[in-house]
Amino acid sequence: MGTIQVDEEAVLDAEDIVELSPVNGTYDTVIVGAGAAGIGMAISLMHIGVESMLIIERNTVGSSFANWPAETRFITPSFPSNSIGMLDLNSIAIGVSPAYNMRVEHPTGQDFADHLKFLAEEFELPIWDHTNVTAIEKGSEEFNIETDKGSLQAKNVIWAAGEYQYPTTNLFEGSELCRHTSTVSSYAEMSGDDYLIIGGYESGIDAAYHLSRNGKQVKVFDSSCPWGAETSDPSVALSTFSFERMRADSFQTQVELFAETKISKVELNSGIYTVTTSDGDVYTSKNKPLLASGFDGSHKFVSHLFEQRKDGFPKLDDNDCSTTTEGMYLCGPAIRHDGHIFCFIFKYRQRFGIVARSIAESLGLPTEDFVSIYRSWGMFLDDLSCCGQECLTC
Ligand SMILES: Cc1cc2nc3c(=O)[nH]c(=O)nc-3n(C[C@H](O)[C@H](O)[C@H](O)COP(=O)(O)OP(=O)(O)OC[C@H]3O[C@@H](n4cnc5c(N)ncnc54)[C@H](O)[C@@H]3O)c2cc1C
Repeated sequence: MGTIQVDEEAVLDAEDIVELSPVNGTYDTVIVGAGAAGIGMAISLMHIGVESMLIIERNTVGSSFANWPAETRFITPSFPSNSIGMLDLNSIAIGVSPAYNMRVEHPTGQDFADHLKFLAEEFELPIWDHTNVTAIEKGSEEFNIETDKGSLQAKNVIWAAGEYQYPTTNLFEGSELCRHTSTVSSYAEMSGDDYLIIGGYESGIDAAYHLSRNGKQVKVFDSSCPWGAETSDPSVALSTFSFERMRADSFQTQVELFAETKISKVELNSGIYTVTTSDGDVYTSKNKPLLASGFDGSHKFVSHLFEQRKDGFPKLDDNDCSTTTEGMYLCGPAIRHDGHIFCFIFKYRQRFGIVARSIAESLGLPTEDFVSIYRSWGMFLDDLSCCGQECLTC
């Protein structure tokens, strides 16, 4: 991996980054999860001068990315655009460019996990890895955080435990007979001639692309029609990367797409899997159907500390803090504000600065310079009225 690309003027000096240590046994901030959100958030806290923080990680830095199927790549492209004032789409920190670091436009999960590890070392982030958070409760003043290695206290907690390790598997009768795409280590290792994939958003199309390239016949079912969505929002429609892949010869000839097709049941009899749609149509395969059904998300684990929106996501105030538990923040792809979905890195990183400022203000730290720099790099999004879709006519 190359050296880190840092824009000297844009990043606060290393001397500004204070030593990180717990104060009287209580951390100012504990971040749960060392993925893209947790690592990016920690760098923002360092930049603003938060003195005592800790990241707690159940596995290792970037472990969700490291567990992606080997062939799966980022759909969002990386480009070393920082030099013209546009942060690389997959960057999690000002002055950092995965494109420049790795010389890859669409990194694999393992590439990005390595990149996160590199950043954690470069910024000397304080991390307890191999430590699972098992419970969080708020007392009168501070949070008590239980882990499998003991308990600790914090004034603020940032929940950044992601979605990947919390897949949606309980969808219909027999869904336990299927295999979630997050458990696939490599599509090249999958034997058999044909596959039924339930779910046609990014993961489903990714699976269909790789399986068809490996010579399999594939059917993809989706209860809506992600490949036909009339929106430019990549949180709703498929990415251009996936549309390009869908034009590949192997995809065109070996993949059948079934839109508006809800699966109601999967059964296994005498080694044959039967997939039944809600219209009563039946499809069979000798191979375990693949579930590309998305993720419940880890926020369910801390639902007692948040009010819930109607769609089940945590209700957040303007600082991405819980509306019921002071000091409890959410960071990462589960962030929702009204109809805005922050499920990609280039979206949720825009809120790192907001959370960092809120915590810094609660600790009496100055925030003006930080906000100005973060705003200029698109890492401080406090006006959501500008977040719309591109439209040819408006
Ligand atoms: C197939 C696929 C392709 C994608 N492609 C893109 C893309 O091209 N561009 C893009 O921007 N986004 C993409 N995404 C989304 C992107 O992966 C997520 O936005 C990103 O992983 C979220 O980062 P995170 O830090 O919130 O979660 P994670 O990366 O999952 O990190 C959370 C961390 O928390 C840890 N953890 C969980 N629970 C606990 C606990 N109880 N105690 C301690 N630690 C815990 C986990 O071990 C993990 O390391 C893709 C997702 C998938 C599944």
